[in-house]
Amino acid sequence: MQRVLVIDKNKQPLMPCHPARARELLNKGKAAVYRTFPFTIILKEREGGDTQPIAFKIDPGSKATGMALVADFKRGKRVIWAGELTHRGQQIRDALLSRRQLRRSRRARHTRYRQARFDNRRRPEGWLPPSLKSRVENIWTWACRLNRACPIASISQELVKFDMQLMQNAEIRGVEYQQGELAGYEVREYLLEKWGRKCAYCNAKDLPLQVEHINPKLRGGSNRVSNLTLACHDCNQEKRTQTVAEFGFPEIQKLAKAPLKDAAAVNATRWALYHRLETIGLPLEVGTGGRTKFNRTTQGYAKTHWLDATCVGESGEKVYITASDTPLLVKATGHGSRQMCRTDKYGFPSRYRLRQKRHFGFQTGDMVKAIVPAGKVVGTHSGRVACRATGSFDITTATGKVTVSHRYTKVTHHADGYNYKKGQGAIPPHA
Ligand SMILES: [Zn+2]
Repeated sequence: MQRVLVIDKNKQPLMPCHPARARELLNKGKAAVYRTFPFTIILKEREGGDTQPIAFKIDPGSKATGMALVADFKRGKRVIWAGELTHRGQQIRDALLSRRQLRRSRRARHTRYRQARFDNRRRPEGWLPPSLKSRVENIWTWACRLNRACPIASISQELVKFDMQLMQNAEIRGVEYQQGELAGYEVREYLLEKWGRKCAYCNAKDLPLQVEHINPKLRGGSNRVSNLTLACHDCNQEKRTQTVAEFGFPEIQKLAKAPLKDAAAVNATRWALYHRLETIGLPLEVGTGGRTKFNRTTQGYAKTHWLDATCVGESGEKVYITASDTPLLVKATGHGSRQMCRTDKYGFPSRYRLRQKRHFGFQTGDMVKAIVPAGKVVGTHSGRVACRATGSFDITTATGKVTVSHRYTKVTHHADGYNYKKGQGAIPPHA
């Protein structure tokens, strides 16, 4: 069950409560709705209260990021809130491309001379491409948002996909890595990523792959990852104790020596996020992707972003979820464009935008509820609003578009650059 976030009358975070309790408080008039997404109530009289430690856990991904709030109760750890944040990397790329093209065409026009401006800028230290930067900013926004309404005591982040040091350097391995299953997980994940999840010899996909020694163990090959690849059962059997060259694949030896390329870009963002989260000043736990997968599979949870977030790090070992746990699906939408003049399909200006964005206290993109007492569109409508200066608004509801006067309309959630939807729950194995 998604718990309701609670703040006291001084806007200090209190322990999140059960939705039934929140309903009771709201009905009795002891609390008021403070925010719709994430659902937060403010208590009118209460000041301070007991809290248990809550961890904010994140699994950053390229397309979507899993978020979970896990409370450490006396009876054990439990998910009290979960969300999945979808990023808008591609959208930003497209927007920048269109801006570049517009500027180019402007420069090429026969107007006064415009100096070319492309090689007079330097990128600052720690620069990230805008599409990647937005991912960091999205997660940062949500970390701060939740931190304001919930007594977060620590943050856990999946920092790297594989722990290279733990795999390569035998001396620093802990007991778990030497004897436990965790070592195998870390290595397997790395190999799957490196060899593209297919057999290195016959390119077979979607079948169980075995970890295979490039230079066979019998002939002095080591267990280091640079000597390992993935092969299907058949290829592995056929190769037996031959080296890759003897087996007819000399190029595999070279490929194995090359380190993983993609990991660098992913890691750059993850480190940027790490340094950003550090500034919140809470203890920051980090984990690897191998560890997350190990925790998730030993608990038998499905592969979803929010469950991955729950299983991040050492603290992700025994976390209880219930069948009614559903994530809030959050999608980054941005704040619209700055284009002032829109064109028809031939490129001629046809519509213009007002300088003013707010009308009668509303802004396009706000979530609203309209109760219309009479007329053609009588009834209750809720959805996103598109404003006009005349005060006649369009509301996009689940069933279609309605045009309603601003007089019947009330804001339920101000446009904040995100779209919200209720997600599907994951059925836990022990339910
Ligand atoms: Zn094969």
